[in-house]
Amino acid sequence: MTPPCPRCRLPAPTRFTVRGHDIHRCDRCDLEFVWPTPSPEALASVYTSGYFQGGGAGYDDYFTREREQVARKSRARLSALKELGVTRGRLFDLGCAAGYFLGHARDAGFTVAGAEPSPEALSAMDPSLRASVVPSLEALPDEARFEVITAWDVLEHLPDPDATLRSLRARLTPDGVLAVVIPVIGSSTTRLAPALWDQYKPPEHLWFWSARAMRSLLSDHGLRVLREDVAWSRPSRFVDPDGTSRAPLVRLARSIDALAHRAITAVAGPQLVTDSVAFYARAERP
Ligand SMILES: [Zn+2]
Repeated sequence: MTPPCPRCRLPAPTRFTVRGHDIHRCDRCDLEFVWPTPSPEALASVYTSGYFQGGGAGYDDYFTREREQVARKSRARLSALKELGVTRGRLFDLGCAAGYFLGHARDAGFTVAGAEPSPEALSAMDPSLRASVVPSLEALPDEARFEVITAWDVLEHLPDPDATLRSLRARLTPDGVLAVVIPVIGSSTTRLAPALWDQYKPPEHLWFWSARAMRSLLSDHGLRVLREDVAWSRPSRFVDPDGTSRAPLVRLARSIDALAHRAITAVAGPQLVTDSVAFYARAERP
């Protein structure tokens, strides 16, 4: 059976199958999604103990190896907010994991809060942050509003990102800013060899948008995109995906890959080699 696209209601046929899950695609709006939707039990089992340090689904070692990466990304994201004139106020981070970004945002002058369901992540969190973190968006007090809401690498994991965006939008102050990072489709890998793209990883990732599709979705929720940054871009998945091998031939192939990456970017623009994008969008007054 062909399900309808959740956004345009047009039939969205299967594009390919990965890890036993069908990825469906709507050619009209560039939305791709896993269907049938995995059961709540299957989704919950992805995030059991080990997600952040297991090396299976999720992260090899989020709490040590990823920490420096998060610091680098946090600096870039806070400086993007600063360039948009957003330097103070209440900031809410959905899916805040161990709170590393929240710590950087607090240091930068924001009053921070977050939501994180994983007990594993919460137990690794700085105790001074833990009191401002709730287990879910729904657990926030009714009156809680924020000048900034962030969701880094979160929307693609959620069973109903449209409903989550509606809730987030309702929590923004007038002129508030929502910032999200998602993996984007549209690169040469997602077009030509989708099974090789490591972001097609159901049931952990359930939704895949092109940059155009994400702009439309944000616009549907009264959010106007102010800025887009390439969050992550790698030449290919063909050689040494971790970038850690020291074997001479692999290093040579990696250098060729890197040159090709630069050449493609120079000639065709970044979209053919972009893996994920940060979107910063402002709430429009109704
Ligand atoms: Zn559609």
